[in-house]
Amino acid sequence: MTPPTPTNLVTLDFEHMAALVARLGWPSYRTRQILQWIYQHRVRDIAGMSSLSLKDRETLGHEAVIERLESPTHFQSVDGTQKFLHSLKDGLAVESVLIPDGGRLTQCVSTQVGCTLDCGFCVTGQMGLKRNLKAHEIVDQILTAQDRLQPGHRITSLVFMGMGEPLANFDELSDALTRLTNTDWGVGFPKRRITISTAGFSQRLHDVAGLGVNLAVSLNASTAEQRDRLMPMMNRLHPLPDLLAACRAYPIPANRYLTFEYVLLSGENDSTDDAVRLSRLLRGIRCKINLIPFNEFPNSPFRRPADPAIAAFQTILRQKGYDVFVRQNRGRDVLGACGQLGILPARTAPATLSIGT
Ligand code: SAH
Repeated sequence: MTPPTPTNLVTLDFEHMAALVARLGWPSYRTRQILQWIYQHRVRDIAGMSSLSLKDRETLGHEAVIERLESPTHFQSVDGTQKFLHSLKDGLAVESVLIPDGGRLTQCVSTQVGCTLDCGFCVTGQMGLKRNLKAHEIVDQILTAQDRLQPGHRITSLVFMGMGEPLANFDELSDALTRLTNTDWGVGFPKRRITISTAGFSQRLHDVAGLGVNLAVSLNASTAEQRDRLMPMMNRLHPLPDLLAACRAYPIPANRYLTFEYVLLSGENDSTDDAVRLSRLLRGIRCKINLIPFNEFPNSPFRRPADPAIAAFQTILRQKGYDVFVRQNRGRDVLGACGQLGILPARTAPATLSIGT
């Protein structure tokens, strides 16, 4: 008889871990202890759970393992940004990006392998959707990056803006967020330092509000017709007026903002009229605007506007009273910037690239 496949402890949420602990006849506080070893101490081996007796570790080891993702391939950008290619068990891979900025260290995390959406300016969409990530595969990107930091350094913000559409994988995302934010047994990440970015699943915004994290909406257009051209599938599912209505209804917590992202595409959506229309669309919503100058990729149909055009767009919105930031295009040499995840730099990047494992 072949022995049963051991349970991989990282795949279990709190309830399933509690069920395993109960089945072993252990007291319930053991659940918390085991989870702390996984998420707070990041042990990779049951033998390392030193608050459990040797006998209990042996018992657990008979039926369970800790199987984290393999060590990722690592790409180092000249600007300090690091991109990780995380190999999954089934041979697929996803990317995450670590972006240092002053005292802050932001990780951009993926939620799907590829994407169902077909936004013309994003390379991930061209891959199609391979599959949703499981909660533990989402969390592993963060644990892995944290493992590789120098002692004393830590990730300060998480943005779910990597590969995929977070709200199209809501249940696994929500499970991952529980593990990341629980301060008792989880990673203990502050919710206000986490942002989920959506291409516009308006009916899901209400569910995001319940998660307590920040929301960013990728608007990217100043008219319905433009959004239809740039993000056809998204705009068909959730037309611009519905999305804006959902944003207006969104319960923004005190001292927080909704963020609108707007990818700037030369000659497409970067005119003075666009800026004025955008300011009208967002009127009355407590928000910040992040302008993201287009990051080019091989065979991309769009161009990045020249710097003066970007500055002019920003100025108009500022004059209308908005907080407007231009996102620095970090990690472009390793194809780690927005919209570039999905093409491997090994084939396409310039010689400055350094790759390590
Ligand atoms: N699907 C989610 C998260 C992934 S995209 C969303 O759409 O929000 C993260 C951000 O990168 C989005 O705001 C998107 O509009 C932007 N983006 C995509 N491709 C880009 C590119 N080539 N250059 C600049 N920004 C891009």
